[in-house]
Parts: sequence; C-alpha cells; structure tokens
Amino acid sequence: MKTEAREGKRDQSVSKVFVLDANKQKLNPVHPGRARILLSAGKAAVYRRYPLTIILKCAVESPQVQPLRIKLDPGSKTTGIAIVNDVSGEVAFAAELAHRGQTIKKSLDDKRAIRRSRRQRHTRYRKPRFDNRRNKDNGWVPPSLESRVCNVVTWVKRLMRVCSINAISQELVRFDMQAMENAEVSGIEYQQGTLQGYEVREYLLEKWHRSCGYCGTKDAPLQVEHVRPRAKLGTNRISNLVLACEPCNIKKGTQDIRVFLADKPDVLKYILARVKAPLSDAAAVNTTRRALFERLKALGVPVECGTGGRTKFNRVTRGFEKTHWIDAACVGASTPAHLHVKGIAPQLITANGHGSRQMCRMDRYGFPRTGPKRARQVRGFQTGDIVKAVVASGKKVGTYVGRVAVRTTGSFNITTKQGTVQGISHRTCVSVHRCDGYSYGQESPALQTPRKERLFPPMDKSHGFPGEGFL
Ligand SMILES: [Zn+2]
Repeated sequence: MKTEAREGKRDQSVSKVFVLDANKQKLNPVHPGRARILLSAGKAAVYRRYPLTIILKCAVESPQVQPLRIKLDPGSKTTGIAIVNDVSGEVAFAAELAHRGQTIKKSLDDKRAIRRSRRQRHTRYRKPRFDNRRNKDNGWVPPSLESRVCNVVTWVKRLMRVCSINAISQELVRFDMQAMENAEVSGIEYQQGTLQGYEVREYLLEKWHRSCGYCGTKDAPLQVEHVRPRAKLGTNRISNLVLACEPCNIKKGTQDIRVFLADKPDVLKYILARVKAPLSDAAAVNTTRRALFERLKALGVPVECGTGGRTKFNRVTRGFEKTHWIDAACVGASTPAHLHVKGIAPQLITANGHGSRQMCRMDRYGFPRTGPKRARQVRGFQTGDIVKAVVASGKKVGTYVGRVAVRTTGSFNITTKQGTVQGISHRTCVSVHRCDGYSYGQESPALQTPRKERLFPPMDKSHGFPGEGFL
C-alpha cells in the first residue's frame, strides 16, 4: 500500500516554472516550490510573470538542458498548448489560449459601417482612392482566422524564448486519408487496426455530418454500420460504412439495405450515392491549421503533424478526459507511453488585442464625438498593464493588484479579482507585467501562496523586466 501511495505521488506533477541564468541561457524548468525557495533566498528574480520565468543571479557553466517539445491542438475558440518532455513523459507546462475571432469580425463590420456612412455625407473634397487593396497572396487567411494563427505563433515564440524547445507537434488534419485507403502503410497501430479505427470514425463523423445516416438524428450515440452486412460478406472498406444510431442499427440488423429502406426510396438513393463518394481533402484539412503549419515551419524547429484520430486514440488509450491542453499533449506519434498529467493546472490565456486603432469615437450620425485619441502611455503606464498599487493613506488604503485602465489625469482604475477600484494615483503603482495583448487566469503556485510578503526587485517601467542593479 505504501508503494502504491508513492507511485501515486510520482504521477503527480505540476506546471513548472521556466528558468534562465544570468546570461539569459535557457535552463530546465523547475518545480514551483523550488522556484519559491530561489526567490525567497534572493538567488533569483521574477523575469516575466506570464509565462512565469525566473532569472538566476548567477551564470551556469555548460548546463545540461533536456530538450522539450511544444504540442498544439488548434481550435476555433480555444487552442490547447502543452510542453512535454518526450523522454520522461512529463508535462512541463500547459495552457489554454482563448482566441478573439468574433471580436475581430465585429470591429471589421463596424469599420465598414463607418466608411459606408462617411461616403453618404457631404464632407470636404478628398482625392478619390481606388485600387488600393493589397493582393490576397497565397498565405492569406481572413483577419479573424489570421488572428488565431498569430496568437498561436506568438505563444510558441514566447515559450521558445524561455525554455529549450527542439520540436513542435501540431494537430493538422482531422483524419489521415492515406492511412485509411491503404491500411498497410504505417506502423504497428495501423496493422493492429486500433488506430485505424479512430481515423475511420473521425472520417465517418465528418462524412455523415455527425448524424445517423438512416434517420438523421444527431443526439444519439452513433455506431459504425455496414451497408452490406458483415454476415453477407460485406467489407470494412469506407465505401461500405454508414453511421447509424443504435435503434436504426438494430432494426436494420443483417437485412439488405434495399429491403430495409424499401419504403424510403429517397433515403436509399441518398445513402447509396453518399457511401460511394469520397470526402474531398478540404474536409480534412482546415485552412487555418494549414496556415499555422506553414508559419510554424518557418521557426526553424522540426514540426510533427498529427491527426485528430491519432490524438483521440492517444487520449483514450491513456485514459485521460478531454480538455484542450490534454488533447494538445496527446497530439502526434511522438506522444510518450506514460504521460504525467495529474495535478497540472493549465494557464488560462485570453487574447484581448492591443486596443482600438480608431482615431476618435463617433456619434449616431457618424460625426466625431470625442477629440482625437491621446497618447496611449500615461505616466509610463498603459491600459492593460498589470500593476501593483500600495496605497498608504486616504480612503483607499490597501494593496491592489490587477489590470490598470489609465486616465490622462494620472488617476487610474484597477480591476482586481474583487472588483474595480477607481481613482488610484499613478504614484502608488508599480508595473508587474506589461500589457502584451493577453489577459491571464490564476497565477503560478510559485507566487500564489506567499508565507511572508516577498519583495520583488523594482521593475524597469519600459520593459517590464526587473530593473538595473538587481544582478
Ligand atoms: Zn437512426
């Protein structure tokens, strides 16, 4: 029993803290407990809050650094990110990145509406401008999708700056068409048929629009059904498979499809036509993922592609539940047999953008409502910075940490976990993390539970790095 407990403990791991040495050499990530000791002993300082990175105050001679792999599961709303040590199966870092596709579409619609209304108005003469649009070249994707691609590339680059990454894995396609056509192609899993089963299932879900081929229901669990039954020597080929709900599957049994659907000629015709038609490649490869793949290749690290079927196979055979970051950790053939995911809390990241580029607000009729926009920076701060304000006197005595909204008066608003506090003087504020276009969920445990108040070195306001003289 004792060994069992120890085994369980060994399986526990937590999201680690990235470490740089004094020369900004990348070292192995450490446990948050260790990071806390280093910080409180004054041997290290916080280099960056998100992702939490500490910088040692000494240089390390020829460090032994284990290479890590970044794994990505790109989604339309959320992208899962995991950093995995392929040798030990440890997940060093996990994150879930929420995109802002809808916001971008809305602001483009707003922009269009403003331009339309301006064209109807009598305004001063402007030189006609036409034919002034950029050509949509090969790598072009619509702005809302472009933002997703850029979000992911940004985070891959940020993570590559603080730990040694030697490979990237990305889920590129939903299913592997080639492997399905030709079962002998690749690897033992295909030959044993298990992995192939997952690819086939994903393919069929796409082909039959995630619904029962016979009755069209979408709510019931779906089973793979043979048009020509196995009992009558029907094959396992894709062109003999339909998805069916359990009642339909049982009702059909080993009947011939023409007998089963004798009174529904439309459905029969639809199924016979659909079953033969292969899915186009476009259904498997999504343009956003393809564009992301091209950009990741340009980072100079080998990129491994996985399929959705493979991800699901890896996740289900290891008995993990489905979350974005676990899916990311399960992407690709390189996934270690033992993956330690227990006890890991993903860093939640939300893309917020860098503010509006609109020069001034308008009224209902499209005329300027405010003066032109002022400078973004007020007294060295910018809306979106995470600051710590220590107010020593007055009505608002206390310590506030949160996202700041700057006002030109120098009296800021700070949004903390408890709510928004207004009228905090810029003099009491110290920058903790510079506005970088993202907002974050909970902090790393290395900073979360201070036994006593730790004092971080003063931040250099222009970079968000610990200031001069701390080394
Ligand atoms: Zn059905």
